Amino acid sequence: MIDYHLHGNFCGHGSGRLEEYVLAAIDRGLSEIGFSAHLPKVVDPDPYHAMLEDDLPRYVKTVRSLQDEYGTRIKIKLGIEADYFEGFEEKTRALLSAHPFDYVIGSIHFLGDWHFTSRAGLAQYGREDPNEAFPRYFELLRKMISTGLFDIVGHPDAIRRSYFVPTIPLEGEYRATAELIEQKGMSAEVNTAGLRRDAGSIYPAHEFLSVLVAEGVPLTIGSDAHRPDDVGRDFDSALSELKRFGVERVAVYERRKRSLVPLEPSG
Ligand SMILES: [Zn+2]
Ligand SMILES: [Zn+2]
Repeated sequence: MIDYHLHGNFCGHGSGRLEEYVLAAIDRGLSEIGFSAHLPKVVDPDPYHAMLEDDLPRYVKTVRSLQDEYGTRIKIKLGIEADYFEGFEEKTRALLSAHPFDYVIGSIHFLGDWHFTSRAGLAQYGREDPNEAFPRYFELLRKMISTGLFDIVGHPDAIRRSYFVPTIPLEGEYRATAELIEQKGMSAEVNTAGLRRDAGSIYPAHEFLSVLVAEGVPLTIGSDAHRPDDVGRDFDSALSELKRFGVERVAVYERRKRSLVPLEPSG
């Protein structure tokens, strides 16, 4: 299997050297991995959320040297996870084009000042209205997709928590988002961190995934590991979910070109 969402100690909220992730992946029998450290924030740089700009060349170099050292045992891709901040598209584009990334995951972690994916942002869930937050999240997500800056939509419904359930239907949001992903030639990520972040299931929700699959959107799989122990975490759940939808191939990337490979390589 392939894990395209690995972090590490380049950001303040991750731990473990990247090499430890490679060793964990080899140990778990993964055929391919991709590092996707948080791209430096283009607004209010914050080393807890993401490495600072000066560290980006060292990140690229570290992944390159791991490719050299472990390339015969496992495929290692140079990816990055970029936040989308409206109005800062050019700065984001400049950072992304400065290095030969294999893929770029585009993700929403902030709604205004609310960093909902962070530990500090958890308390605010109690003060927010899901019927207002979900549409706002999906609107921003579609703006992100429309920019054409990114290859993969990271944890597509990251706003979701088991205790934060809208009463309005989300079918329209799911459909409009899936159509746009397809139109833009992007992929969507199946991210097992939903299980660890109290979303009640992997991201995206079963109903959302069914719309993505029906729309023909290619998928990648990621654990969103922020420590070596989480590499390939809960991939059996992701696999059985994908099999229920008859998904047989997943997307892989090289220098931002996509191809599809069998979900479970034979032999
Ligand atoms: Zn992170
Ligand atoms: Zn993320």
